[in-house]
Amino acid sequence: MGYYQMNEKLAIEYLVEHGVFDSATGLTAKEVGDGNLNLVFIVKDEATENSVVLKQALPYVRVVGESWPLSIERTIVEANALEIYNNLTPNYVPKLIHRNDQLSLIVMEDLSHLELMRYGMIKMQKYPSFPEHASTFLADTLFYTSDMYLSSEEKKKLVAKFINIELCKITEDLIFTDPYHDADTNNINPRLRPYLEEVFWKKTDLWREVSKLKYKFMTEAQSLIHGDLHTGSIFAGENETKIFDAEFAFMGPAAFDVGKIIGNIFINYISWSGKDEDPERIKDYRSYLLETVIRLHRFFERKFIENWKKDALNISARAEGYRDDFMNNLFTDTIGFCGAVMIRRTHGLAQNLDVTGIEDLQKRRDVQVKLLELGEKLIMNRHSFNNLEEVTNLIKENI
Ligand code: ADP
Ligand code: MG
Ligand code: MG
Ligand code: MG
Repeated sequence: MGYYQMNEKLAIEYLVEHGVFDSATGLTAKEVGDGNLNLVFIVKDEATENSVVLKQALPYVRVVGESWPLSIERTIVEANALEIYNNLTPNYVPKLIHRNDQLSLIVMEDLSHLELMRYGMIKMQKYPSFPEHASTFLADTLFYTSDMYLSSEEKKKLVAKFINIELCKITEDLIFTDPYHDADTNNINPRLRPYLEEVFWKKTDLWREVSKLKYKFMTEAQSLIHGDLHTGSIFAGENETKIFDAEFAFMGPAAFDVGKIIGNIFINYISWSGKDEDPERIKDYRSYLLETVIRLHRFFERKFIENWKKDALNISARAEGYRDDFMNNLFTDTIGFCGAVMIRRTHGLAQNLDVTGIEDLQKRRDVQVKLLELGEKLIMNRHSFNNLEEVTNLIKENI
């Protein structure tokens, strides 16, 4: 059957027809999508409280509308990635229950008992298990889909499987290009515009370095990366972490996922400068955030190296000193991508509520300038940092 757009009633009918629920009696459905691209329905059996989530791609960009068409094949990518994640790291992703590539939909485990990490962090929520969980997700997905583990043939098949033309192009444009000139897609705080025009868009050295990061993103088919690993793609609770929304997945630079999540945490850190909140609470939350980032990254490196030592099948992995070089490059790229994400979220198309929630446009502007300045420092100095503590110290000194 060809594509048709789901609504609440059709979603219920579909799930009954495909055996996810026995009958429509007592089922309720609610559209809850707050993302940029897709429809998301929670369908629940009110009697048993069993529920699932049905996510369907729309043939256009949801936040923009029908004027920006987008092919619906991205759900095939998300389903393919979720299948791999369900195998590699089932504890940290939603369970994939059903897929329908013609209708461009997936049915998955309902995670609405958890809160989006982005919303929690705006309320200073702490997530004690997050570094442990997210580092395992990163180390396992990035190592076991790389050439260090897979055969040359398996790896190339994976590259072919994850051709994600349109969503990669979105990242190439929205993260690595448009923020560096006066592009139509940008979404600019009017109070920030003078700084962009007089200062930021004149930084030719920065654009040059970002172009190198963009080229890495376009050419370095290293590992299966999630591709959109911001705090709005993570559900978190006290003892649970679930990473979802993998439609941007493709074989790309491993550092992109690591840098993107760290960058989003730095955005939250910096956002507090524009908020009326008890300074002691801010201080406490900020030290929690930096500790989180340090632990996440330390655990990630440790687990990635453990995987390497235990399971690297590629004989080159044994070349003396090679792993250290590999990890050093990964770190440098992580800091670069982290900086690019901080910059993109200040005036690019999709922004973070952490910052847009600051209603006073002048205060928001001041936070945005800090983000731009720090993002730039990270990118420009990415080769000079020896470890993440040096990066978090820089952030601390400047905020
Ligand atoms: P988009 O690709 O449009 O960003 P997301 O996958 O991020 O879509 O989903 C949008 C929203 O739908 C999420 O922010 C979340 O609130 C809700 N959602 C998505 N997947 C689930 C799930 N498995 N369980 C509960 N809610 C979900
Ligand atoms: Mg999303
Ligand atoms: Mg979302
Ligand atoms: Mg998405």
